[in-house]
Amino acid sequence: MDLRYTEEEEAFRTELRSWLAEVLPSVPPEPARDDWEGRRRWDTDWQHRLFDAGYAGINWPAEVGGRGASPTEQLIFLEETEKAHAPYVGVNFVGLLHAGPTLIAEASEEQKARHLPAILKGDQVWCQGFSEPGAGSDLASLRTRAVRDGDDYVISGQKIWTSFAQVADYCELLVRTSPDAPKHRGITWLILPMDSPGIEIRPLRTIAGSTEFSEVFLDEVRVPVANRVGPEDDGWRVAMVTFSFERGTAFVSEMLQTMELLRDLGRLVPETDASSRRELGRLRADLDALWALTKRNVSQAARTGVPGVGGSVFKLHYSETRNRLGDLAMRVLDRASLSLEDEHVGGRVHAISLGIAAGTSQIQRNIVAERILGLPKERSWTSS
Ligand SMILES: Cc1cc2nc3c(=O)[nH]c(=O)nc-3n(C[C@H](O)[C@H](O)[C@H](O)COP(=O)(O)OP(=O)(O)OC[C@H]3O[C@@H](n4cnc5c(N)ncnc54)[C@H](O)[C@@H]3O)c2cc1C
Repeated sequence: MDLRYTEEEEAFRTELRSWLAEVLPSVPPEPARDDWEGRRRWDTDWQHRLFDAGYAGINWPAEVGGRGASPTEQLIFLEETEKAHAPYVGVNFVGLLHAGPTLIAEASEEQKARHLPAILKGDQVWCQGFSEPGAGSDLASLRTRAVRDGDDYVISGQKIWTSFAQVADYCELLVRTSPDAPKHRGITWLILPMDSPGIEIRPLRTIAGSTEFSEVFLDEVRVPVANRVGPEDDGWRVAMVTFSFERGTAFVSEMLQTMELLRDLGRLVPETDASSRRELGRLRADLDALWALTKRNVSQAARTGVPGVGGSVFKLHYSETRNRLGDLAMRVLDRASLSLEDEHVGGRVHAISLGIAAGTSQIQRNIVAERILGLPKERSWTSS
């Protein structure tokens, strides 16, 4: 891995910077937090503009509509869009950051052609139907059942914490196809069209008052077998590919935002507050280390097609660093920290969710211990 930028990469940065300077003034104001139709329109319009200008899917293959550029250019894209305060992926999070990359790695040519260019253009919004009331950390216990009937699967069950379900066109769905098989071996990864009959979406409210999550109830929903990604009962392996993107690369943009917040907080800490300034320095060093790890994960994804289990190290350390930054912000803001309108305060509440989303910190620790450090499996010590 070479961390220096080439002349072509620097030229890409300059060209992108001037494009951003030209188009950003014409982007309309962001819609209200719970105006979901408005948010979908705003996020997908921006995605469409990126696509038209050749900036959608920087490191996605050109055959599926991407730019076919290097992962370094993808990182430059993230750095520059963040610096320029361009819109973030928003409701396109799942499609662009983990469902799309999973399809690139695992889907049939026909599935790629149907979904990938549409995701890049902002014509398809995706959500993720993995978690269930009895299957979060222990995801392999999921019970949503898919029974084969001719050319369809007939699906019944319940999903929970489905972000952006109310505006999604498709869902990356995990179902149980073989109830008698060992639990990790009876799962299948399906593409669920969200307008299929039998789907009911019930929004949930978070502690921050927003409604991006929903419960999704499925009552005899028919999904063509042609929508299966990978073989039947091999969905656990495909889900691990999804997780490697979700944990390894999906949070990079948000980490760049955190670097901005840290710089902003630095301006608020008095010169005389030595302990807060020391903590600022530690946080800066941690974020720099995470940026280096990101470059490593992204270049590994370019070599092997997927970022691998190292994403768990990133996700764990990033969520803990983000929480520490939130704590420092609360201390520095003092009485002003009572206002949820302040971006540092909103960010502090959001940071709590980072240790839960895409697998909790405890689960990431188990993965790091067992799959990276080679320590004994959790089961072997809990059962002794
Ligand atoms: C912001 C956000 C967005 C999300 N979006 C989606 C989405 O779009 N689609 C989706 O499917 N899901 C989504 N989720 C759900 C998320 O994946 C789950 O919340 C997460 O996997 C934890 O599952 P759980 O909530 O059932 O907690 P549980 O699994 O019940 O865990 C409860 C506690 O027990 C601990 N614990 C459990 N098992 C172990 C163990 N073996 N060892 C040590 N500790 C353990 C956990 O770490 C946690 O602290 C989202 C969650 C958040 C916060």
